[in-house]
Amino acid sequence: MDTFDVIVVGAGPGGYVAAIRCSQLGLKTACIDKWLNSEGEPAPGGTCLNVGCIPSKALLDSSHHYHNATHLFEAHGITAERLSMDVAKMQARKADVVRTLTGGIRGLFRKNEITFLPGTASLKPRRQVEVTDHAGATSTYQATHIIIASGSVPVEIGAAPTNGSTIVDSEGALTFTEVPERLGVIGAGVIGLELGSVWRRLGSQVIVLEALDDFLAAADRQVAERAHKTFAEQGLDIRLGARVIGTKTNKASVTVAYEDGNGEQSLAVDKLVVAVGRRANTDALHAQDAGIAVDAAGRIEVDGQGRTSVDGVYAVGDCVRGPMLAHKASEEGVAIAEIIAGQAGHLDFRTVPWVIYTHPEIAWVGKTEAELDADGIPYRSGTFPYAALGRAQGAGETNGLVKVIGHQDTDELLGVHVFGAQASEIIAEAVTAMEFHASTEDLARTVHAHPTLSEALHEAALAVDQRAIHR
Ligand code: FAD
Ligand code: AMP
Repeated sequence: MDTFDVIVVGAGPGGYVAAIRCSQLGLKTACIDKWLNSEGEPAPGGTCLNVGCIPSKALLDSSHHYHNATHLFEAHGITAERLSMDVAKMQARKADVVRTLTGGIRGLFRKNEITFLPGTASLKPRRQVEVTDHAGATSTYQATHIIIASGSVPVEIGAAPTNGSTIVDSEGALTFTEVPERLGVIGAGVIGLELGSVWRRLGSQVIVLEALDDFLAAADRQVAERAHKTFAEQGLDIRLGARVIGTKTNKASVTVAYEDGNGEQSLAVDKLVVAVGRRANTDALHAQDAGIAVDAAGRIEVDGQGRTSVDGVYAVGDCVRGPMLAHKASEEGVAIAEIIAGQAGHLDFRTVPWVIYTHPEIAWVGKTEAELDADGIPYRSGTFPYAALGRAQGAGETNGLVKVIGHQDTDELLGVHVFGAQASEIIAEAVTAMEFHASTEDLARTVHAHPTLSEALHEAALAVDQRAIHR
């Protein structure tokens, strides 16, 4: 039986990053992954590279270019005649991006001398792992340590079972070959808003049904309100307090039944995307047979350092507690590799950034004012609008704001919330500042290049002390 210091199950951003870090630390490492692409080739990279972060951003970028060409070029004095759009070409470009990146992971495995085992892993007692390859052959391997990074899959709801054609999950919504005339989306979460934006920009009429009364309940209220209004202006018909209770499929359309404050409603769409969240993907692992505790939601139970109930077995990423985000999975993977190698691996959940890649983008790190109110923590906050930035005016990106929140007494930075162009990049500075336990005064006294959108962060930090310059 082949033996490894570490066997990693899953080659998503949690697993492949953990495997690379293990190898860097001198550990003999194997990584098992079952994903096959549409050509039937092993495609490491997990949800993120194959059907998540990367393909969604590729389509968001393509559709953003189209939207700019059809809506914004004119204001810049550019006339584009006979403009057209080719969904098949966009999809082919997206597939190329995915192929390049999943091929890149295979290259990284080779470079780091990681044994890549394509196939499905099943956990056995005494840290053995059985792998069934894509031809159906099984082999068993012995590990000193195991890192489970089996990720997540879309949640399905009985009210709208997916059928691969008219009712699809997020993966299906990334592969439409033509623009649906009427598109329904169940769930106004991150994935629903991003996918809804892609198809809206390409011409669909998009209706988003969200069971909750609050829009983006986890975000800052001011940001959420501004975003809600903006998305409505973009033509996303977001219906809050609308719980989907059933669907009826006809040949080429779906009738969706939902309940809102006025009773039962009905909606006819050509395609329906179910984007109601994701759940841990632990079914194929048989973790419990290996003595590994799994919670009621199917997540592998771990302590603060990623240890499961079995000695030497760890778990990271979407299959454990915490936010289902690629960068959280990767940093957990690094931390666990370092813990296995005897170092002090650590992940600070306080500083994990959130990003929604709509346009404008939404990004935040740390606490919201509502959370601080609930925790009884005194704070001061400052906001600054993009409209007051020279760069935003020049770019025509005036719709946005940054909010900086600091502790009332110590001034330590407690949260930063951004709605605006390039929020995903601006938030990185706030994350770094929070990692260093910076104060809002530190941000306020940091030189920011002019003219940049990052000046909004600078000015919002100044605004905490009522001394913003351009307001
Ligand atoms: P995964 O990426 O799910 O990888 C797990 C891998 O393990 C898979 O390849 C799976 O096939 C394999 N596996 C599972 N069980 C077994 C087994 N028994 N044997 C062998 N292999 C197995 N996050 C962000 O941070 N930013 C974004 O912009 C973003 N956009 C997203 C957009 C969409 C449409 C979706 C669906 C998700 C998005 N996410 C985003 C979430 C992100 O994809 C996940 O948080 C991330 O992929 C989790 O990484 P992971 O390594 O834990 O699991
Ligand atoms: P997220 O968990 O961020 O992916 O968001 C999923 C969203 O789907 C949540 O805001 C849920 O409230 C919403 N949701 C779940 N079930 C339903 C349903 N039956 N009808 C409408 N919205 C739903």
